[in-house]
Amino acid sequence: MKQAIGVDIGGGSIRVSLFDETGNEQKSNHTKTPEHLDNDSFLALLKETIRPLTKECMGIGVGSPGPLNNETGVMLTSANMVGLKNLPIKSALENEFSLPVFYENDANCAALGEAIFGKFKAVESQLILTLGTGIGGGFVQKGVLYSGYLGNGIEIGHTTSVIGGAMCGCGVLGCVESYFSTKGFLNRYLEKTNQTLPHAEAFFGLVREGDKLAKEILEFGTKALAHAVRNAIHLLNPEAVVFVGGITKSYDLFGSLLESEIRSTIFSVLNDRLKMGIGGNISGTLGAASLVFAKEKQ
Ligand SMILES: [Zn+2]
Repeated sequence: MKQAIGVDIGGGSIRVSLFDETGNEQKSNHTKTPEHLDNDSFLALLKETIRPLTKECMGIGVGSPGPLNNETGVMLTSANMVGLKNLPIKSALENEFSLPVFYENDANCAALGEAIFGKFKAVESQLILTLGTGIGGGFVQKGVLYSGYLGNGIEIGHTTSVIGGAMCGCGVLGCVESYFSTKGFLNRYLEKTNQTLPHAEAFFGLVREGDKLAKEILEFGTKALAHAVRNAIHLLNPEAVVFVGGITKSYDLFGSLLESEIRSTIFSVLNDRLKMGIGGNISGTLGAASLVFAKEKQ
């Protein structure tokens, strides 16, 4: 059976798994990455973490947070690892292991993994949204990921919801992720109450307790997200819209408003075939390995 390696770089660690083509994990390995590393020491760690899994595999897929250049396979900078700059991931791994290497941002990997192995894998095209610290997105049609040049396509989190609205991490006012994301919820709550919440669970805990302001922030954010999805549906006409990421744990608190706001505002003719819901909880490593399996199918 065909096997591929998926590498998930981020969150202070390198995770590597070997998968068969049905998505079953055969072996795995991981290494913690110190915050201060230069390019050479990071690449040495990366190679040593991958090496034990490289027998009998047909390629390596790598995912990491952006910004990156997916054409040259270079990680431009890293928010978590300050010493890294213009890291040539693709060429370093190809030279080391003589295997094809594919490199995309982690939101794109998550989208492709969801499309190939997730809950809605039978449909022709999917828009996948990662709801977490920010909002990531990906669009997959007939097994092919639309990534745009440099791999920056479908950055739906940085589409505008409120002209002149709240400041986003990208430096522009009013992006949808300023209203619906962990960062967005915590910042909007801080603005209204002067209280700093530690994480998304604390925010959703307040919503569950009936906190009026938290409920208002969630309701507005949900509508902002719904209209960003509506816009994307009218641009892309996907057969399924799939939500993944940490915030989907609280889907019971916003999912029905989100879905009804979307379904009541898109062209009604689209509603019969459109599927919508939470995805299949695909790991970052399987998402990255999907880059290899998807190339094989083309
Ligand atoms: Zn933004």
